[in-house]
Amino acid sequence: MTTSPAQAPATSDSPGGRPRVVIIGSGFGGLFAAQALKKAPVAITLVSKTAQHLFQPLLYQVATGILSEGEIAPATREILRRQKNARVALGEVTEIDVAARTVTSEILGRTLVHPYDELIVAAGAGQSYFGNDQFAEFAPGMKSIDDALELRGRIFGAFELAEIATDPDEIDRLMTFVVVGAGPTGVEMAGQIAELARRTLRRDFRNIDPSCARIILLDAAPAVLPSFGQKLGDRARRQLNEIGVDVQLGAMVTDVDADGLDVKDADGQTRRIQAATKIWAAGVQASELGRILGEQTGAEVDRAGRISVQPDLTLPGHPEIHVVGDMMALGKLPGVAQVAIQGGRYAAEAIERRVAGTPAQPPFHYFDKGSMATISRFSAVADVGKLKFSGFFAWVLWLVVHLMYIVGFKSRITTVLHWMVSFLGRGRAERVATQQQVYGRLALEQLGPRWEVSKTGGPKDTDPANEDVTHRDSA
Ligand SMILES: Cc1cc2nc3c(=O)[nH]c(=O)nc-3n(C[C@H](O)[C@H](O)[C@H](O)COP(=O)(O)OP(=O)(O)OC[C@H]3O[C@@H](n4cnc5c(N)ncnc54)[C@H](O)[C@@H]3O)c2cc1C
Repeated sequence: MTTSPAQAPATSDSPGGRPRVVIIGSGFGGLFAAQALKKAPVAITLVSKTAQHLFQPLLYQVATGILSEGEIAPATREILRRQKNARVALGEVTEIDVAARTVTSEILGRTLVHPYDELIVAAGAGQSYFGNDQFAEFAPGMKSIDDALELRGRIFGAFELAEIATDPDEIDRLMTFVVVGAGPTGVEMAGQIAELARRTLRRDFRNIDPSCARIILLDAAPAVLPSFGQKLGDRARRQLNEIGVDVQLGAMVTDVDADGLDVKDADGQTRRIQAATKIWAAGVQASELGRILGEQTGAEVDRAGRISVQPDLTLPGHPEIHVVGDMMALGKLPGVAQVAIQGGRYAAEAIERRVAGTPAQPPFHYFDKGSMATISRFSAVADVGKLKFSGFFAWVLWLVVHLMYIVGFKSRITTVLHWMVSFLGRGRAERVATQQQVYGRLALEQLGPRWEVSKTGGPKDTDPANEDVTHRDSA
């Protein structure tokens, strides 16, 4: 398979002739699948475009200065360091050849080809701007560490700029924060910005009063937290109002720019909100790999890019390809961590059984452990089986459950300490945001594909676009 110095087979024959399992993604689906195969006589290669396992449900706490990024994103190879049958390869999968049974990944001009006998695809989903990708520049989403750190810089930076501004309209614009999307992520984000403004920053400024900040939670739908049902949605809305979040429903965003956004209300009226900080928490689009697999296998791909799987989470005619998590479409299963975790474990067991020659499992059955969302300190909503409750008890349950799923003992300890600082005290331990975090994304976009090898050196022979445009020596 070697065609150039930049392209090489990722593995030679698998160790001991063991079946080769390639897992794409180090999120909930991919990591839990790899761990479930710990004792299986297989050779696992986990390929991911990020070197960490990201605990997405706590990204909003990184964005609002409660937690550090390291606490919610431990290195995947550290998690798997004792698992001898697993290796980790950093790289973005750009191709899957189902006929040749290979996966191609790329990183900084290096291309690797990973042959597989069994494939688990768990590449998750990204933000969707519903065809308006130009909004992303002004309203970052909440999907990655980069997003969270950029938002942290924008949120804290807005208060700093307001402190030195003199024009009252400009101060209002800087102190207006709009969160688009009233699902769990939007609700948690809006609640935390309110707490930040009203509690943490209350005494930190001299010219502005941060507690006067305007926090708006917008959604085109008529309900808050629609997946939690009307009763909990109404309670969440009341609690948000109590902490000073202005919830505006039936409000569709029609345009976003640097100064604010345009909104069309349910009655057809349009209006403008001047706001420096906009956060996009509406809509997801599954990984492009769904489309690539759909074209080759004939499996249906829906509008959100999710690929239809069979009841055993494989693709039609391809029992060796398992798709799990946010990328898969199976009935009405939601895009939540437990679906990915249980799907990853199910796929792992299917592989283990096939390798052992034992009969296949019954179809995948999702065990719904419930959903929770925090509104603010000491306040959350929980929907667990037939129980729907809110308030302090829901919040404590939320803390315990999230702590259980944070990977690593060290991270759990420091997370608890940071939570004490923020929830018992008023502080936020992680208020640092650098210019690179805020402006780096724009700079990278302007450089285009040329930025990749500028700092690390590496293969430059295949593509002129990989030239070092900075003309500096490699680091
Ligand atoms: C802000 C936020 C808050 C959330 N809160 C909750 C919550 O409170 N409760 C809950 O249950 N769920 C929550 N979710 C949803 C939950 O995080 C997802 O359902 C879950 O992460 C899906 O797991 P996954 O393995 O399918 O994908 P992910 O966890 O997204 O993992 C995808 C992996 O694939 C990698 N990858 C992507 N594309 C490629 C490629 N081309 N090549 C190589 N690697 C690739 C990524 O780097 C990543 O490692 C939240 C999500 C977000 C974004």
